[in-house]
Amino acid sequence: MRHPPSSLAVLVVVMLGAAACAPGGSAATPGIRPVSTAEQGEAPDGTTAFDDSVPAVARLDPALREALQAASTRAAEDGLTLRINSGWRSPEYQERLLQDAVAKYGSREEAARWVATPETSAHVSGDAVDVGPWDAAYWLDRYGDAFGLCRIYVNEPWHFELRPEAVTDGCPQQYLDPTEDPRMQG
Ligand SMILES: [Zn+2]
Repeated sequence: MRHPPSSLAVLVVVMLGAAACAPGGSAATPGIRPVSTAEQGEAPDGTTAFDDSVPAVARLDPALREALQAASTRAAEDGLTLRINSGWRSPEYQERLLQDAVAKYGSREEAARWVATPETSAHVSGDAVDVGPWDAAYWLDRYGDAFGLCRIYVNEPWHFELRPEAVTDGCPQQYLDPTEDPRMQG
């Protein structure tokens, strides 16, 4: 079984053409996935809270970014590198993630347990980050409250938002999943 090189080359050309012709990441072209970009909020591998030239980090709420930088510095003293796997996202990028989740989970209702809409997502408003790797996420879950950084959902151990009152009061009780979050009822 060999793939003729010519057809692969055609495919690449088609994909490049689709990327160039899809302003705003329109998902309207059937059968061709639009290429996500850093401009739409995709965080390149290895992104940290200090990479403020990356839109996923640059377009976060500044207070959230500063808290993440402080926590990252502290985590580094414990030998951990806190990565930002996702931060700010464009509405188009969020919609595409939602559509992917609908395809994966079979319904919009089930997908809503995992992925918010562009209207309700705290990522789109620049108020949330998904962190990694697992050891750093665990560290932030345990020590983040000192920086006002709180895990919000039981089913998303990677998703953190700024809750400034956590510095004195500790983090609020977590929702089991986003469907319990009143903000997601929009
Ligand atoms: Zn998240």
